[in-house]
Amino acid sequence: MYLYNSATHKKEEFKTHTPGRVEMYTCGPTVYHFAHIGNLRSYIMEDVLEKYLRFAGYDVNRVMNITDVGHLSSDADTGEDKMLKGAKRENKTVMDIARFYTDAFFDDCRKLNIKRPDVVQPATGCIGEYIKIITKLIDTGYAYLAGGNVYFDSSRLERYYIFNDHNEDDLAVGVREGVEEDSNKRNKNDFVLWFTKSKFEDQALKWDSPWGVGYPGWHIECSGISLKYNGEYLDLHCGGVDNAFPHHTNEIAQSESYLGHPWCPHWFHVHHLNDPAGKMSKSKGEFLTVSLLEEKGYDPLAYRWFCLQSHYRKTLVFSWENLDNAAAAYTKLLSRIAALKPEGDVDAAALGEYREKFLRQVGNDLNTSMAVTAVFDALKAKANDATKLAIIGEFDKVLSMSLLEKAAVLREKAAQAVRSGGGDYVITGEGDPEVDARVLARYEAKKAKNFAEADRIRDELKARGIEVTDVKGGASWKRV
Ligand code: AMP
Ligand code: ZN
Repeated sequence: MYLYNSATHKKEEFKTHTPGRVEMYTCGPTVYHFAHIGNLRSYIMEDVLEKYLRFAGYDVNRVMNITDVGHLSSDADTGEDKMLKGAKRENKTVMDIARFYTDAFFDDCRKLNIKRPDVVQPATGCIGEYIKIITKLIDTGYAYLAGGNVYFDSSRLERYYIFNDHNEDDLAVGVREGVEEDSNKRNKNDFVLWFTKSKFEDQALKWDSPWGVGYPGWHIECSGISLKYNGEYLDLHCGGVDNAFPHHTNEIAQSESYLGHPWCPHWFHVHHLNDPAGKMSKSKGEFLTVSLLEEKGYDPLAYRWFCLQSHYRKTLVFSWENLDNAAAAYTKLLSRIAALKPEGDVDAAALGEYREKFLRQVGNDLNTSMAVTAVFDALKAKANDATKLAIIGEFDKVLSMSLLEKAAVLREKAAQAVRSGGGDYVITGEGDPEVDARVLARYEAKKAKNFAEADRIRDELKARGIEVTDVKGGASWKRV
């Protein structure tokens, strides 16, 4: 696979430390609120990457942290403590908030067919790891104590800015507007490894440490968790593009100083989903969640489809109109797959050819829009329906759009409706299951009071020269 690497600013052939095995790490959510659909864009694209690697034959060990302590509302050790903020907002304990929003996050993931990583580790469960790393960093002169806190000494590094080519001053914490500098820091890029003197008197979660009772900084959790579960050589580190600086930069600084050798050669950053007004943010009050999409009648997978249509390295702009288009395209695709008859023998040679092409095309910097196109190409393949279904089933191992499952349900419903005189909705037409499925989808949309979708399906059929008439107990259709 060829993958863009933000550490080298180039597309490179992806290689692993141990052949055939990928040690993969993903920065998990800060569980002080629901995930917004922007956060979930990152997790969808990382999920596709993981599934592609498995599809290509790798054995993948994917590790994710859950940030349930230590993340301040600014990434640069300043601002409010996010977990405390959530607890105050809801009048609950930090632990209650963490538990509730961790579950909510994985519910959203399930609805979006995002696989749970092999290891999911809350940050509060690995305090011993952080203490071990920080102790060594102090012993080797990479960290120092000041004002009761432990800081990483960035002046010890030959190269600190790994991901950015911009002017250092643009990124320096001390000169960012509205961000107060911590006077304990010796250098502007130093960052906190362990807090004992925090401005949050009511900090709920604290642990004993050689430097006093306190809690870890945000960045150390990902190094500690990855070193514990991925080992000393990480192959692939993922996150949203906002994580690159300072979070990932600091992870590299502390991990490599601790290990004394390079840590992770490949960095994968997903660009943001913005709303038309700009950046999507949880602090803005109302924000877009999977539940909101569901309330408005969308299948969460329509959002996954929307994300897959564009490249992970491009900013994606969300609008309801764009989501409507994706939802309509997805529904239409399902009915086309439903029209395939799962009969006959699979042509293994054709299946192999399509698989190879898919691997090559999608393996070019995770080109998910090519993966989407590949499904439409499979529908047009010079092969029998069984082979087409087998090809689509293979592609869906990466896309995870439940294509075969949902199409099978549609096919069965349409068959039942056409068959059963006594069924609750009988479709009479010219014997085309694909059209039957669309007519049924229109009925289902109407039943769910999604009249816009029902009208869209009627218009779509009309544009194809098919006229649907509602009759008692069902519908009839004909080509006009
Ligand atoms: P957080 O819960 O704030 O720690 O963020 C979880 C993940 O979502 C991180 O990998 C972020 O980089 C990513 N992220 C945050 N905002 C967006 C966005 N608008 N679009 C895509 N990913 C985002
Ligand atoms: Zn992280």
